[in-house]
Amino acid sequence: MATYVQKFGGSSVADAECMQRVAQRVYDTKKEGHSVVVVLSAMGKTTDNLINLSKQVNPQPAEREMDMLLSTGEQVSVSILAMALHALGAEAVSLTGPQAGIATDAAHTKAKILSIQPDRIVDNLRKGRIVIVCGFQGLSPTGDIATLGRGGSDTTAVALAAALKADRCQIFTDVDGVYTADPRVVKRARKLDTVAYDEMLEMASLGAKVLQSRSVEFAKKYGVELEVLTSFERMPGTVVKEEVEDMEDIVVRGVAADKNQAKVTIQRVPDRPGVAATLFKELASANVNVDMIVQNVSEQGHTDMTFTVPRDEINRTRTAVDGLLEIVGAAGASYDVDIAKVSIVGVGMRSHSGIAYQMFEALSENKINVEMISTSEIKISVVIRSAYADQAAQVLHDAFKLDQVNGTA
Ligand code: ADP
Ligand code: ASP
Ligand code: MG
Repeated sequence: MATYVQKFGGSSVADAECMQRVAQRVYDTKKEGHSVVVVLSAMGKTTDNLINLSKQVNPQPAEREMDMLLSTGEQVSVSILAMALHALGAEAVSLTGPQAGIATDAAHTKAKILSIQPDRIVDNLRKGRIVIVCGFQGLSPTGDIATLGRGGSDTTAVALAAALKADRCQIFTDVDGVYTADPRVVKRARKLDTVAYDEMLEMASLGAKVLQSRSVEFAKKYGVELEVLTSFERMPGTVVKEEVEDMEDIVVRGVAADKNQAKVTIQRVPDRPGVAATLFKELASANVNVDMIVQNVSEQGHTDMTFTVPRDEINRTRTAVDGLLEIVGAAGASYDVDIAKVSIVGVGMRSHSGIAYQMFEALSENKINVEMISTSEIKISVVIRSAYADQAAQVLHDAFKLDQVNGTA
């Protein structure tokens, strides 16, 4: 008898019919003799709708209240699934994140899971029940409900799989696995049988929303093998796991695009020690996630500093930066929300050269201008105009022949 954690995303539980399909699937696993813990997202577009609702009454809602609101979506899902399972004759119980023993830090709307006390889950599994847990939420140190950031149910599932030492962690979604690029954008994107944790981590943090990047971090840390598969058909998906040697044979594994980006340029910053520290300290305390940072060569004791932030953090960024311009002696700042970040990812890049050149050439042949570049061992990212993001993903997918099994560079 194995322990399964099965997570179903929003589109997999969008309506009553979907709920019944999920109930049947979960019950089938249970009837095979396994213990089953289910993690659910809110139904369909519920989370988006709740966010829109909040903005109608307050453009900058308090984050604690936002979490109170958003966590209700998952609570609807778990209770409905429990009822659907009862209708099939199964024994099932639904639990909120706090009831399931999930403790988080205090960072409302992007909390991190600190620990899980799974006693109540284990007790229910022992009694033969299917346990259904709200994804995306936990209890903060102040006893408030906190949410884990968009896509956070993936992280709940992986964290529970680690805490329960589950044998399988399955992420059911609306595509049948992880592809070489978003299959809704790149027509010839190819489904991968396996992908290494590090590659998946880069792809997820660079915009491939099929898994929340925190969930991959967790999976890698605790050695949880993940399977990403469709909830609409019964077929194998993609396994996310530790890197094996032959994975390096493939240089570029995938392309990711992130349109939720904005670029900030601070003009004519005095070139002296402490200026960058002052700026980025302020941004850190405003809870802004700064990504790429480029500082130009100094001219006459001044330099321009450019960095990217998530687009939905641009207001916080603007407030923090505008308040500092005079203090650091900068000439001004400009804010650009029409950018996107497009990246290529692959563990094989560690041992191959010339990949950056091929990437830039493919973009330039298509008249796509590169505004910023950043690299790590296994990825190269560029910032471009957001209008070209989909085209760039397509161009790079073609350039590295990712539609072919052994796509060469
Ligand atoms: P869920 O609601 O099940 O959590 P998400 O919408 O969060 O599902 O994630 C699934 C979506 O991720 C797919 O519909 C697909 O458009 C998108 N996606 C982006 N990049 C990829 C990729 N490389 N492989 C598969 N799906 C991807
Ligand atoms: N419902 C949340 C969201 O839409 C969490 C999730 O689905 O993973 O982001
Ligand atoms: Mg998701």
